[in-house]
Amino acid sequence: MTPKITFEEHFMAPGFEKYSEAFLKLMPADQSGQLVQRLNGFDGERIELMDRGGIVRTVLSLTGPGAQSESLDRAVDSARRANDFLAEKIAAQPDRLSGFASLPMHDPDAAIAELQRTVRDMGFLGCLVNGHTHGTYYDGPEYDAFWAELERLGVPFYLHPINAHADPYVIRDVPVLQGAVWGWGVEAGSHALRLLFGGVFDRFPGVKVVLGHMGEGLPFLRWRFDSRFRAYPQGVDLRLAPSEYFTRNIVITTSGVCSHASLMGAVGEMGADGVMFSVDYPYEDTAAAVDFIETAPLDDEARRKVCHDTAAALLGLPLLAEAA
Ligand code: ZN
Repeated sequence: MTPKITFEEHFMAPGFEKYSEAFLKLMPADQSGQLVQRLNGFDGERIELMDRGGIVRTVLSLTGPGAQSESLDRAVDSARRANDFLAEKIAAQPDRLSGFASLPMHDPDAAIAELQRTVRDMGFLGCLVNGHTHGTYYDGPEYDAFWAELERLGVPFYLHPINAHADPYVIRDVPVLQGAVWGWGVEAGSHALRLLFGGVFDRFPGVKVVLGHMGEGLPFLRWRFDSRFRAYPQGVDLRLAPSEYFTRNIVITTSGVCSHASLMGAVGEMGADGVMFSVDYPYEDTAAAVDFIETAPLDDEARRKVCHDTAAALLGLPLLAEAA
């Protein structure tokens, strides 16, 4: 079995339960009960599933919407508490678990301080942010210092979905389309495109933004982004064609999309240096995700990259050849 790293994998920290209730209550009670149990588990089943799937390391992040839903006066403290809680859990199993920080993006300076504390002092491998903060997106100049620090630290920013700030008119009366089925992907994909077309990757060429769920569908539209941007630039000036920021700055995981056709399309668009395996545990099934990637029609080198080495390079972990 190919050794794997996964890094869209969630946990629940004490004090954040109420923020997740909105989507947990949409599930049947038996499923949501098991989900909460799995979110709260750091050993036992979580590690057993990793062992069975050849997952050598998993990078944990606080489940959504987390700190992004909190008020500014609470967010700084509670992100700190969630990160301290995670650090304790990692310390108990440091050879298997790593962490992505929660950040109070409400205030760029506070986000920078928490990023520095968690990455520099606590060994976290980056951050996972659940989209916008009360309708604020991170392409504006007030976030330049944040992107500069992320680039300087050399760690990735996982842009995870969240509910739209205001539901788009077209789905405002169709609840089933507002969440994980469709709306979250549109929200996260649009946020990533705001960063791209807002010039964040021109100002900070070393920044890496990770999108889950097979890149929220964006890899499949690279050609069209170039073609229509050439036709309608609307005063936006980018150093590269939009497609060229994929893999260079936007990388993706396979979390929650276990389709060989989609995987091969994404690898065709971005190469095996831009596509990485992940599960989205406990929302998705680890065994199904492992089976999907083990049976994917990739050659050995591409499978090694997608399962392990591309993530290892992104996260500053040893590559398989180095570890052997
Ligand atoms: Zn997720």
